[in-house]
Amino acid sequence: MSFRRVISQTHAVSYFQGVISRGRLGHAYVLYGPEGVGKALFARELAKALFCQTKGDACDVCNPCRKVDSGMHPDFHWVSPLEGKRDIAKRQIQELEDKAYLKPLEANRRVFVLEDADKMTEEASNYLLKTLEEPPPGTLFLLTTTSAPSLLPTILSRCQMVRFRPLPIEVVKGLLSEKVDLKGYKGLVALSCGSLGRATKLREERVTSHIDRFLEILQELRSVDSFSITQELMEWCPDTTGLEGRRSLLRTWLDLLLAYYRDMLLYKVGSGGPGLFYEGVVPSFETRTRDLSADTLLQILEDITATVEGLYSNANLNLLMDNLFLRLASYERATWDSRQGLGARG
Ligand SMILES: [Zn+2]
Repeated sequence: MSFRRVISQTHAVSYFQGVISRGRLGHAYVLYGPEGVGKALFARELAKALFCQTKGDACDVCNPCRKVDSGMHPDFHWVSPLEGKRDIAKRQIQELEDKAYLKPLEANRRVFVLEDADKMTEEASNYLLKTLEEPPPGTLFLLTTTSAPSLLPTILSRCQMVRFRPLPIEVVKGLLSEKVDLKGYKGLVALSCGSLGRATKLREERVTSHIDRFLEILQELRSVDSFSITQELMEWCPDTTGLEGRRSLLRTWLDLLLAYYRDMLLYKVGSGGPGLFYEGVVPSFETRTRDLSADTLLQILEDITATVEGLYSNANLNLLMDNLFLRLASYERATWDSRQGLGARG
């Protein structure tokens, strides 16, 4: 099986090898886990394994394997948001359904991959639900997502769930070093949070040249003027790529911020270990984690998440970011003030 291309997801690979060899493949699966850990790659390799002329193992060289790889296999269908769109539209799911009721042309089944299935509009989700309730024979639906709870519970209940894990840091490092000279990208591997996709995105978006400064800002949030942080961040996200491009860049920075506070919360509640990415990278990590309560950290995570959502409904991005950094600074200062107060009394 060309599953050997799928790195470090041994659980998913052995699960599917098992169900296929026992003839127990279901009709719908949700492949969930962080971005850039191989979910989409896995879906493609699974289709190849099912279509390949060599039984049980994709050979990469036969006609069906090559057609899947080139996107030309008539029974392999890939659905993701259309160019320039954020959502998967109802029309796309309708087209999918039309194909699902046709007999496969070359293989013994049709395989549909819905990449980032959580991006389906509500209408699209409801349409897909109808198809999943009575799946046409000879169809396999693979829904990939970074956020399974964002899918309709009724869709989830009709799918089997397969979890994908973050890649070990050493694996990300190894894969990245094949592409770039890692010297000079100190924080890149850590900020990838075990996702090769994210690391690659960080590099492509030229985020890397600001990573060191970003790590500094994380330590200064309490003391630095919030407006100047917004200004600096906005300069890293020039509007030369248009509003959508700017949103996407801001989203990257917000994701990094979210991962930082999530790490602090995990550390605080004792779920640390190799899953933490910022611990060794931000010098003040431990002290700051001690200073902030778990409740405050939860509140901060909510605020950042709300800001990410606000990116797409808000025209004034400056104001949105100002509000977030003001709030972050006020949480940090409140903790600092109370600690100083205690110190004075003691
Ligand atoms: Zn093959």
